Amino acid sequence: MTATILDGRARAKEMQAEIEQQVQSFVAARGFAPAMAVVRAGEDPASVSYARTILNTMEKRGLKATAHVLPADVPQAELVELVARLSADPAVHGIMVQEPYPKGIDPNAVLAALNPAKDVDGVHPESAGRLAQAEPVGRGEGPAFFVPATPAGGMELMRRYGVEFAGKHAVVVGRSNIVGKPMGLLLLRENATVTLCHSRTADLPGICRQADILAAAVGRARMIRGDWIKPGAVVVDFGVNFVKICPNCGADNRDTAAACRCGADLSAVEAAMCGDVHYAEALEVAGLLTPVPGGTGPMTNVMLMRNLLVAAGL
Ligand code: NDP
Repeated sequence: MTATILDGRARAKEMQAEIEQQVQSFVAARGFAPAMAVVRAGEDPASVSYARTILNTMEKRGLKATAHVLPADVPQAELVELVARLSADPAVHGIMVQEPYPKGIDPNAVLAALNPAKDVDGVHPESAGRLAQAEPVGRGEGPAFFVPATPAGGMELMRRYGVEFAGKHAVVVGRSNIVGKPMGLLLLRENATVTLCHSRTADLPGICRQADILAAAVGRARMIRGDWIKPGAVVVDFGVNFVKICPNCGADNRDTAAACRCGADLSAVEAAMCGDVHYAEALEVAGLLTPVPGGTGPMTNVMLMRNLLVAAGL
């Protein structure tokens, strides 16, 4: 069997076109563009790169996005004051505070200053609580709330390929507040039967093998092997890892490794981006599979834009 690819890049492109239309109608009706503030303390390279992507993507679609960058040694009170000021500013509709926070900053103090109505990243305890308390699909709407963009993107990608959730056994590997846990809750809300796994889970391969839908959000390159996957399963890989794959023995090495354990020289080998799922092996077993890159990643930015439009009152 060769899996059908869940093409996040293509689906995100379709959605970007939908969003452009919505932005144009919004601006025509309201006279202003939805505005997003991206707050960061410090220069974590992945956060800098993510912020650049968000700003570029949003501006291309006619949304307004502004970066607010503070130094890594900023006092907590100053970061809290910035978030509180943006939260109160009627010209700002969405706020994202980027992780990781510098040492000494209490994320809870920062989130306490964030207006939940502008929480387009779905990280405020009120957003998380509303997701946890949401009615299952088909049992009433309940109040609107924001969901973290990455798991929301994974769900939307599956929906666009006609994946049905009700009655399926969904296994999520990873329980972070930003990916694994909300993914589990979103699947539960869609009436799947959900198992959430983590670093202390016993017999992880055995549990993964029971999954009709398997979602990986671990941060360990190619950890989920082909023989952990039930034939025909839907596999959604959120992992973003960079490894040097040894041209001699095929082993994964850290992206900074100069030599492989087998002795091969890696100094000329470029680090490659890969997911938490062993893609080549999964391709032979899964029914539907996200690639990395090009799967869940492109969907994340689109979902963030969708959340911003909602926050602006679409
Ligand atoms: P975290 O490090 O916050 O969480 C990782 C989770 O994996 C934890 O719950 C941890 O368990 C679990 N875990 C770690 N090792 C194992 C193991 N050996 N077996 C089973 N479970 C394990 O990561 P994030 O959730 O923030 O991110 C996960 C991945 O998703 C990363 O690769 C990240 O780069 C990527 N990501 C992708 C995005 C996208 O747009 N596609 C956006 C955000 C993240 P425990 O709780 O017990 O420690």
